[in-house]
Amino acid sequence: KADMAMNHAKSRGRNNCQFFADEFEILTSHRLRIRNNLKSALEKNEFNLLYQPKIALHSNMIIGVEALIRWRRPSGEVVSPAEFIPAAEENGLIIDIGNWVTEEACKQLQRWGRENHHNFSVAINISPFHFQHADILSTITQALRRYSVRPELLEIELTESALMEDIEHTIEILAELRKLGISCSVDDFGAGYSSLNYLKRLPVDTLKIDKMFIDDITKSQRDLALVDTMINLAHHLDMLVVAEGVETEETVHLLKEKRCDLAQGYYFSRPVSGKVISEMLTTRLQDRA
Ligand code: C2E
Ligand code: MG
Ligand code: MG
Ligand code: MG
Repeated sequence: KADMAMNHAKSRGRNNCQFFADEFEILTSHRLRIRNNLKSALEKNEFNLLYQPKIALHSNMIIGVEALIRWRRPSGEVVSPAEFIPAAEENGLIIDIGNWVTEEACKQLQRWGRENHHNFSVAINISPFHFQHADILSTITQALRRYSVRPELLEIELTESALMEDIEHTIEILAELRKLGISCSVDDFGAGYSSLNYLKRLPVDTLKIDKMFIDDITKSQRDLALVDTMINLAHHLDMLVVAEGVETEETVHLLKEKRCDLAQGYYFSRPVSGKVISEMLTTRLQDRA
């Protein structure tokens, strides 16, 4: 009887292993496929940037945008950055992709400048690996020069994990960026682990409160208390604060009440093409006239 039970357990164990092995194979081959295709995607120009407006809550004006990358495969399939950015971090291609994003954002800034949309900033997302392992300063200064863009118009967004990795190096680079006039935001604030002690030392200009805290502020007193505290924290540190992922009007009301500076989210606009942003800016200006 014991033998039977043993055999039963063994075969089940094997089946479980088999199950995991299959899953693993599917997962890795999918990842591998993405990884192998990323290089040719860059060469074949399959990436593009969309832009999501950042709204100043006191004036309801668009003061800038965040650039968000998209990968359109020749088949028409659009791959989400949540899927390919981690793959690009693994194989190091994230540096080439990040450089491409920087170029493209500056090119777009030049275009908007020529259309008379000045004083309008673009924020780019920089990966931890890129920030820590490449010469981000020279990439940025070269791109700014190439497209004659004022450094004040470019911002970078870094997640907590990127900032905390090598704190002394991080502080040095951020200080250099600030000297050039480029501002920096902490992205997804509250979602990772950040030490307030580090935050105190980092020369950053803006905190972006992660969507997970914003989602339920109309329903949960605790979430609202946390968001209120993060807004005050930012202001006490002389930083601006952005609410991410704002989807409803009631959320906007509460954020205004709590004196949040800026907001981003589907309530205002999804990420859209550079051309659509131009149209938005033109109609807003006409509205004021
Ligand atoms: P993130 O930088 O925190 O960007 C915000 C994400 O939330 C974007 O997703 C945006 O489309 C989405 N979002 C904005 N408002 C709303 C809303 O109201 N509701 C919901 N449900 N979602 C909203 P996306 O474009 O898929 O990007 C996901 C993440 O991928 C980004 O998070 C960022 O970490 C990364 N990423 C995107 N573009 C780049 C890039 O050019 N370089 C690097 N290194 N990472 C990027
Ligand atoms: Mg971001
Ligand atoms: Mg974010
Ligand atoms: Mg995010």
